Amino acid sequence: MNVVFMMPTKIILGNDCVIKNASSFKDFGKKAIIVTGKNSAKLNGSLSDVLKALEINGQDYVLYDKVMANPTVDCVYDGAKVASENHADFLIAIGGGSPMDAGKTIALLACQNINKADLFKGNYEKKILPMVFIPTTAGTGSEVTTASIITNDEAKTKSAVAAQFMAPNLALLDSKYLKSLSNNTMINTVLDALSHLIEGYINKKTNELISLIALEGIKIISNQFNNLMNNTYSDDDLDKLMYASNLAGIVISHTGTTLVHAMGYSLTYFKHIDHGRANGLLMYNYLKYYTSIVGDKIDNILKYMNLNTLEDFNDVMNSLLKDKEDIKPCELEDYSKIAINAKNVLNCPFEVTKNDIYKIYLNTFKK
Ligand code: NAP
Ligand code: FE
Repeated sequence: MNVVFMMPTKIILGNDCVIKNASSFKDFGKKAIIVTGKNSAKLNGSLSDVLKALEINGQDYVLYDKVMANPTVDCVYDGAKVASENHADFLIAIGGGSPMDAGKTIALLACQNINKADLFKGNYEKKILPMVFIPTTAGTGSEVTTASIITNDEAKTKSAVAAQFMAPNLALLDSKYLKSLSNNTMINTVLDALSHLIEGYINKKTNELISLIALEGIKIISNQFNNLMNNTYSDDDLDKLMYASNLAGIVISHTGTTLVHAMGYSLTYFKHIDHGRANGLLMYNYLKYYTSIVGDKIDNILKYMNLNTLEDFNDVMNSLLKDKEDIKPCELEDYSKIAINAKNVLNCPFEVTKNDIYKIYLNTFKK
């Protein structure tokens, strides 16, 4: 047995945890840059909870509320400029994966000069603002991962700015913020978490403990499939979704993602398909393609999902995802050339070729 486990982020999950745990970030600094998307943090109560907590602590803040979905390089440099100009000495990110990911790179760029051309090259100095993360989607787990996924126009894909020291210091998870999500975004983000769990379980870097966490997360999410289809959630259901998304973040913070994410990036970059939906669309055909190699693992996943066959899994995905987008084979061929070069492909516990990727894309989008 060979187990490695590391979780530098302190995680607190519970109702009103932001206000109740205000003292836990009192010592992080005097002035926060609060990073959010345009609207949701103002509408779901998360921003006002943070402002109250800062007031209790006597901490000042500047708000940067310009993060768009799939944040751009320009956005993170702009945010870092705001942090520096306002002398922010810690960062609070509130939102889905986009503001949280942008937050990590803003916290990095606020502490060091990195040319835009070098942003995705790694080798950063070990200097970053202390970070508090407050997720408002149950999807990315970014509140505990060391990666920040930024749109990379140069490579026409999405790439990671990542380093071990980029894990947030504190994650505060209050599932009441999920109540304002549209069911479409809820489904897409939960499928992202499911994809993290499956990709982390079928992964070169997994180990006994990580596999245990992955299967637990898979079980919790599968028990929510009916709620996702009917758009009805009790407070306890929302807690469970937030928890499973966090477990999925813990998993990929150890393993990274694999081929599903590598392939999904082009669907988002070129077709503007939401990140979680992109993964959800690809998952069944990815699993089917590699059944002969990782069949035992797939059987175990199905067991934890309480499903009998991979076709049952496909039926659930189809009910959640509805009609698939039209994408031409020649476009899929181009996406295959991009996906084969993604670093996360190397986490697959088997060889992957460009032709394998093309076939999985074709099987996914054939009519
Ligand atoms: P998102 O892009 O952060 O947000 C999607 C939409 O949901 C936005 O319109 C946002 O509005 C809205 N929203 C967020 N919380 C809401 C709430 N509680 N109520 C109502 N609306 C809400 O979506 P996401 O799926 O969470 O994040 C996707 C990003 O995360 C992608 O860029 C992906 O690559 C990245 N990701 C990162 C990791 C990692 O390990 N770092 C892992 C997986 C994915 P506002 O814009 O107004 O806030
Ligand atoms: Fe993801």
